[in-house]
Amino acid sequence: MPVLARLRGLMHCGSPACRDRHERHGTSQRREEHERLARQQAIRRWPADAAAPTAAVWLEPHAPPRLVKRKPVETAAFEQHLLAAAALALQGQKPDLGKVEATEAADILDDLPQSATPAPQPGALCAHCAGRCCRIGLASHAFVDAALLERWVERHPGSGVAHALQAYVGALPERHVQGSCLFHGARGCALPRDDRSAVCNRFACDALQQVQQTTAVQPGTAVIASTGVNGRAHRTVFIAPDGRTQKLKDPAP
Ligand code: SF4
Ligand code: SF4
Repeated sequence: MPVLARLRGLMHCGSPACRDRHERHGTSQRREEHERLARQQAIRRWPADAAAPTAAVWLEPHAPPRLVKRKPVETAAFEQHLLAAAALALQGQKPDLGKVEATEAADILDDLPQSATPAPQPGALCAHCAGRCCRIGLASHAFVDAALLERWVERHPGSGVAHALQAYVGALPERHVQGSCLFHGARGCALPRDDRSAVCNRFACDALQQVQQTTAVQPGTAVIASTGVNGRAHRTVFIAPDGRTQKLKDPAP
């Protein structure tokens, strides 16, 4: 590092690469320290649960969910989208998967470990997160496409695409999380799992993938989930192996 930078008390030479490296190192040190203190706190408060192996994950912060009334213009846009999808379904055309792949939601994992009894920790993590990933469902109209409408019709013998449209519009909650999918209601997704798109049912962010993979191998794993940026957490919870979620005090040093 140049002498001048050292004299100015800088920990890097000022070049973008050096600054980046320094910041990444700082983030990783802060995370490690935060996780260490959070583990200690969990062990003091819930010794039986915290005796389990523990995985630590980080979630990106998002605004606390605020419910807002669905606007007529939003309903109209969704209906327009459904009509276009229905037209494709009636013509027997498949949806443009390329469009789906262009979204963040295309990070679908096809090879996630599947266990006969799903572990409760991944669901508890998503419940704690409150569905940050569902924000992309607003512009994507909940990923409802022609194939999904066709599947709905197949599951309801004697019905047609028009019934599928009614079912999807009818399932819209009056209020949804602001800035998020119109189906993202007060209790999470208002659509039954069978009616959700494959993207919705299978998307897993990095943190969820980590918890799914860890608990598939070690079902008794506890989870420390911290929400924050650059290793600075503003919310941390402890998820016990049975899925109970307990808030930790800010364990920052
Ligand atoms: S997949 Fe990730 S972002 Fe989506 S709800 Fe679960 S934890 Fe949150
Ligand atoms: S349909 Fe449900 S799971 Fe899919 S984006 Fe909307 S709220 Fe999320």
